[in-house]
Amino acid sequence: MKEDFYDILGVSKGASDAEIKKAYRKKAIEYHPDKNPGDKTAEEKFKKAAEAYEILSDPDKKARYDQYGHQAFEGGGFGGGGMNMDDIFSQFGDIFGGGFGGFGGFGGGGRQRRTKGSNLRIRVKLTLEEIATGVEKKIKVKRKIQAPGTTYKTCGTCNGTGQVTRITNTILGRMQTATTCSTCGGAGQSIDHQPAGADAQGLKVTEETVSIKIPAGVEEGMQLKVTGKGNEAPGNGIAGDLLVAIEEQDHPLLQREGNNLHYDLYISFSEAALGASREIDTVTGKVRIKIEEGVQSGKILRLRGKGIPSINGYGKGDLLVHVNVWTPKTLSKEQREFFEKMAKDDHFMPNPDSGEKSFFEKVKDMFS
Ligand SMILES: [Zn+2]
Repeated sequence: MKEDFYDILGVSKGASDAEIKKAYRKKAIEYHPDKNPGDKTAEEKFKKAAEAYEILSDPDKKARYDQYGHQAFEGGGFGGGGMNMDDIFSQFGDIFGGGFGGFGGFGGGGRQRRTKGSNLRIRVKLTLEEIATGVEKKIKVKRKIQAPGTTYKTCGTCNGTGQVTRITNTILGRMQTATTCSTCGGAGQSIDHQPAGADAQGLKVTEETVSIKIPAGVEEGMQLKVTGKGNEAPGNGIAGDLLVAIEEQDHPLLQREGNNLHYDLYISFSEAALGASREIDTVTGKVRIKIEEGVQSGKILRLRGKGIPSINGYGKGDLLVHVNVWTPKTLSKEQREFFEKMAKDDHFMPNPDSGEKSFFEKVKDMFS
């Protein structure tokens, strides 16, 4: 059982962004590897706090976590989980403010700050069928990579630390302040050889085909993360991520509502009276359904498990087939005579029994 992210940070579920940030900062400082050299438990706690903060500091991820719990981030290439120390420092380094990072760098052993390349964002349009089964998409992405032949050298201004330390004498005594090195932008390295076609950081744009595994059950507006497939960073920096926003294509026959699907089935007067067998489209192929004789317009047939699988891997939605009886708009002379003859017939008189729920009762049932 995975520990609750709110518990890890020691905040309540209703905590504000500022409270979450403050709580994370406290934990991060408490368990910072510089303060706990060689302490594996502290390192574990440090990582856990960062993982919790990664989710709870992002409004989208937080909303998903609040709704689905840890399952929202398992499998299928979602972010969260498995963060390494470099990720933590590159993403949340700024949370430590000036107090950390400036003196000897992170990690105790003179670790350099590594810059991170920028993230790339793309949108992927999916059909309901693809969403129902999950799909692997190969997408062409234009991303910056280090141009072949580029070499970097240690920055002379900061000697590779990425930080410039200044000592000033103040009324309170000697103060040491650290700022990001302006020569290398904090990377600790500067470009040594810039081949033709590369920019000032030694990067160039290339087109690359990236394979993206999309799990079943995603929906419009969700975002997947492909770690390391954003822009590369110069020198020994780490690549940014590729963020994939999900778009859902409209289906000609099926309408999605959560994980349930709705289908409007039109049947004739005769089919309603005599019963029928009809083939209908589902997201996983056609199925044949039987319509009982005497079916009423507005009846909803529920095909269990024929909807969209839940993103968290538990269960599937249903396919709800709405029966609509088609009333003929024009009649032949013969048909007109027939219906006129039937107008007073007992069998044609509406006589709803307790089994025939009204439209409003059915709607009530669906949401109860
Ligand atoms: Zn520098």
